[in-house]
Amino acid sequence: MAIERIVDTSIPEEDYDEQLIEVTLRPQSFADYVGQERLKKNLRLAIDAAKKRSEPLDHILLYGPPGLGKTTMASVIAHEMGSSIRVTAGPAIERAGDLASILTNLTDGDILFIDEIHRLSRTVEEVLYAAMEDYKLDIMIGKGPAARSVRLDLPKFTVIGATTRTGALAAPLRDRFGHIYRLDFYTHTEIAQIILRAASILGSTIHEQAAQLLSTRARLTPRIANRLLKRVRDFADVNGDGIIDTVTTTKALELLEVDELGLDAGDRNLLTSMIDHYGDNPVGLTTIAALTGDEATTIEDFYEPYLLQIGFIERTPRGRRVTVKAYQHMGKTHSQATEELV
Ligand code: ADP
Repeated sequence: MAIERIVDTSIPEEDYDEQLIEVTLRPQSFADYVGQERLKKNLRLAIDAAKKRSEPLDHILLYGPPGLGKTTMASVIAHEMGSSIRVTAGPAIERAGDLASILTNLTDGDILFIDEIHRLSRTVEEVLYAAMEDYKLDIMIGKGPAARSVRLDLPKFTVIGATTRTGALAAPLRDRFGHIYRLDFYTHTEIAQIILRAASILGSTIHEQAAQLLSTRARLTPRIANRLLKRVRDFADVNGDGIIDTVTTTKALELLEVDELGLDAGDRNLLTSMIDHYGDNPVGLTTIAALTGDEATTIEDFYEPYLLQIGFIERTPRGRRVTVKAYQHMGKTHSQATEELV
């Protein structure tokens, strides 16, 4: 059975309250957007150039693990361009007609944000990349022998696509993006900054040291940092005077079963299952999914990026392998552990 996870980076659809907080915590401008300096520098340049020439921005593809700030960056770009943004997602655009109605309702300079763009169907993808290329839309009118193709002019819009996997995107679509950027995991200092900013928006008092402690548990991911902060804030409100210090933070984290590296019961279950069943031999993704009871995509998108980042698993051509470092953290004995660590 899949374990409910505090460190899950997805937003539960039914959790409106959570979504509302996500919206209020979302930075509006480059100045509020912490970290990702290289990305901001490149985008600032692109935005300044587009504004100077009074042209729409070239299409932008943002990729990286969930919760790192792709959606947020899209709205920052719209804000900085002074453009309107229309937000949709790959799975929401089922037919070419759905895309046609979105595109024909845009105006010049608008931004169309497509989350999970790798989940567009092939037919929708084809319509999209033709539209991105020359701002034209070919649609079929009528059926059978009387059917004819009509070419419509579209406004000069900008697509910002977000994906956790660029590899899953068809090459012709990927090629239509003038800018392709990867979002990196954040540093502990940046995460602490995000926590302090969020606490002040939420009206909570948090000690600097508590923010630093929390930053080490947030898997270097802003969405998890915000979520942990909210849980610790609940704990401080119920069990104390609402002030978040290191003592309350430590107690709350214990209750949440988040360890000193930000791993939760789900990660520990995954690592233990791999070690117990396969040792340090490579294991295929579907086998890992069967062991933990999760979907393979959940493992790929939510567990794996951080475990790879901290060097707890590695990808080999024959599958994923647990490293000596992970053995150590899990308190398991590895035959080469002492050798490899010196
Ligand atoms: P993604 O689209 O990559 O899954 P989001 O843009 O939805 O991630 O970010 C998740 C949450 O994390 C946002 O609601 C926002 O509050 C916060 N966040 C993301 N990036 C930053 C950042 N650079 N600075 C401050 N907060 C951020």
